[in-house]
Amino acid sequence: MSLYTSLCSSVLFPLHEALKKHSTVRVRKAMERSQWLGVDEIRQAQVKDLTRFLTDIGQHVPYYRTLFAALDFNPGQVTSLADLARLPLLDKPTIRANLDKMRAEDAEGLARFNTGGSSGEPLIFYIGSRRVSHDVAAKWRATRWWGVDIGDPEAVIWGSPIELGAQDKIRLIRDKLLRTHLIPAFEMSQEKLDGFVARIRQIRPKMLFGYPSALAHIASHAEKHGVAMNDLGIKVAFVTSERLYDYQRDKIQTVFGCPVANGYGGRDAGFIAHQCPEGAMHITAEDIIVEIVDKQGKPLPNGELGEIVVTHLATRDFPFIRYRTGDMGILSDKACACGRGLPLLEEIQGRTTDFVVARDGTVLHGLALIYVLRDLEGVDAFKITQDSLDKTSVQIVKTDAYRAESEQRIVAEFKKRLGDTVNVAIEYTDYIPKERSGKFRYVISHVKP
Ligand SMILES: [Zn+2]
Repeated sequence: MSLYTSLCSSVLFPLHEALKKHSTVRVRKAMERSQWLGVDEIRQAQVKDLTRFLTDIGQHVPYYRTLFAALDFNPGQVTSLADLARLPLLDKPTIRANLDKMRAEDAEGLARFNTGGSSGEPLIFYIGSRRVSHDVAAKWRATRWWGVDIGDPEAVIWGSPIELGAQDKIRLIRDKLLRTHLIPAFEMSQEKLDGFVARIRQIRPKMLFGYPSALAHIASHAEKHGVAMNDLGIKVAFVTSERLYDYQRDKIQTVFGCPVANGYGGRDAGFIAHQCPEGAMHITAEDIIVEIVDKQGKPLPNGELGEIVVTHLATRDFPFIRYRTGDMGILSDKACACGRGLPLLEEIQGRTTDFVVARDGTVLHGLALIYVLRDLEGVDAFKITQDSLDKTSVQIVKTDAYRAESEQRIVAEFKKRLGDTVNVAIEYTDYIPKERSGKFRYVISHVKP
C-alpha cells in the first residue's frame, strides 16, 4: 500500500466520514471481524439484530406500526429468520403508495433518492445516515478482500446519467482527494472509446469499477487497436448492476490483466453480495437477510431457484423489509475456501425478464438465444426482445463480415428453442441504445415466466 493510500484509508476518509456523522470506519472494522465467524454464529447475530430492528420500526415507523397491529405481529417474539415470512413482501408500488408513512418519525437528515432502481422502474425512497455508513463499509470491506483500499486510484466507468446527478461539489473534492476518477460513458462511439482507453492509461488505476458491458466494450476496443492495458498495475475490476457474462469476464481479465470481482446490489436493495478472490459471492449478512421465494412469495430451501428478496437491517429510518429485487438466484449451503462464514449466493441468474418462455411454456434463460448470435461472424451488437409467446424480435448491428445465410440460421435456431410456429423478426440497425438506466440488456422478455 502506498503512503498516500494509507493516509487516505486511515486519516482522510475516516475524517470525512466523521464530519458527515457516519460510523463507516467503526462498522467496517466490526465487519472485518464478524466475517470470520461461523455460519451459526452469524445466523444467531442476524436473529438478534432482526428482533431489535423490527421492534424499533414497530415503534417509530407508522406504516409498520399499523401493519404489525393488523397482523397481530409482535417483533419481540421473533425467534428465527423464518418468522420474517409472516410479513408481506414489499414491492415498488407499495413504497410509492406509502412513501411518507414509511419514514421513521424520529428520522433526521434523510437523503432522498430518485433512481431507476435495480429493475429500471423509477423509485423514490429515503436513506438515513446509518444506512449510508453500512453500505459504504460493506463496499470498503469487499475492496480490501482484493488488496485495494480507499485512496488507491480508482477509475469509475459509469454508464448511468442518473448516478451522475448525485455528483455535488463536495463529492467532487472528496473524489479528488481519494483519487476516484469518474469516466462518464453513456456514449460508446469510436472516438469516445479512444478517449476512455487513453484516460485509463493516464490514471493507472489500482481498480476499475463499472458495468460489465461497459468494461468489456472498452477492453475489446483497446484490444482491437492493439493498445496494451495489462501493464498498468490494475489489481481488480469490480463489476456491478448487470449480469456478468462469461465472455465479458474473459475479455476484461485478458485485456486489463486483472481478475474480475462481481458485486450484486443496488441503491434501493443495498450492497447485497460480493465476490471474494476464491470466487464465491458472499452475502453482506451483518446487514442483509436474503430469502429466495417462489411465485407465491413462499420461501424456498437452499439450492432452489427463485426471486431474491432482501431485508436490510440498517434501514430503520426507511425500512426495506422483504423487498422484492426482481432478480433470480439460489442460496447455497456451501462453505467458501477463503474461510469467511458469510453465507453464499450461488448464482445470480439475472432479472425475471432475462428469461424467455418457449411456445410450450418451457422457461429458458436468455443465454440460450444469446449464444446463437454470439457465435455468428459479423454481428457487432444485438438485442433480443420477446414481445409475446408468438413473436420475438432481434435487432442487429452488422459488419461487412456478416453473411446473408446467417439470417436463416438465426431464425432456425430461435425456432428450435422457442417453437416452430414462433415469428422471428430480424431488423438491422446502426445503433442499439441502452436502457434509460444506462444499462445494457441483451435480452428482454415481456412474457412472464
Ligand atoms: Zn470466500
